[in-house]
Amino acid sequence: MKLEGRRESTNVEDRRGKKTVAAAGGLGIGGIIIALIVMFMGGDPSQVTEQLQQGNTTEVVEQDYSQVDVELMTFCKRILAGTEDVWAREFQKMGRTYEPPKMVIFSDAVNSGCGNATSASGPFYCSADETVYLDLEFFKSMKKQIGADGDFAYAYVIAHEVGHHVQNQLGILGQAHQQMANYGPNTKESNEISVRLELQADFFAGVWAYNDNKMFGSLEDGDIEEALNAASKIGDDYLQKQAYGRTMPETFNHGTSAQRSRWLKKGLYTGDVSQGDTFSPAYSNL
Ligand SMILES: [Zn+2]
Repeated sequence: MKLEGRRESTNVEDRRGKKTVAAAGGLGIGGIIIALIVMFMGGDPSQVTEQLQQGNTTEVVEQDYSQVDVELMTFCKRILAGTEDVWAREFQKMGRTYEPPKMVIFSDAVNSGCGNATSASGPFYCSADETVYLDLEFFKSMKKQIGADGDFAYAYVIAHEVGHHVQNQLGILGQAHQQMANYGPNTKESNEISVRLELQADFFAGVWAYNDNKMFGSLEDGDIEEALNAASKIGDDYLQKQAYGRTMPETFNHGTSAQRSRWLKKGLYTGDVSQGDTFSPAYSNL
């Protein structure tokens, strides 16, 4: 990506080095919500739930950051700024006003408006405090664990989480969470709603990239392939096959690699928000 000279978002809070220490606490309703919406990378919500059952205190640890981390921080601020500019314009076209999310960069563990989480759960969006939470180590593990590298693959991760915020602003996320709560967690029905949400967040990531490129000329050769490669390696089928040697379609909650690639691509090539309805089509046609 070409990002030199780009604006940096002021909505990023650096909470690295603030260690969250477990103390007594309970699993609130927010914890249940986070368990539903966590898991960009097919993280295990039961892990998160365990972590959420503990409260926290915070201690600040002084740190020196590597050049890589300094650059990743700037990268996050620029990508987030790009999503602010693009979605402000897209919302304006819809006659709405976009209220941008906050982004918290943390290390190891974090206390969010949805409860406590650790880096193990991957980047997530918490609707209770309208914040995207991200540990920079995640980008490094994408490269190491699934071979999904490249700045545009990283941008896709951020844009996907911001996509959940867009869903929140449009009232889609609240409605979906309500339906999922009615069906109960881990039911086939609520997993299918989760897949619809996740595929739409992928689509919105694509819409962002299309429009960011149009506004700022940000994409370079190979960028789209990077993101599509990432999308193809975070499908539920791919991850389950890697982990267990087989797939369990009834437990899918993010969509298959083919579905994720398809919706990301659709956003990338149309840039058109109105084509991102993942809720009307029959589930088998997603
Ligand atoms: Zn997601």
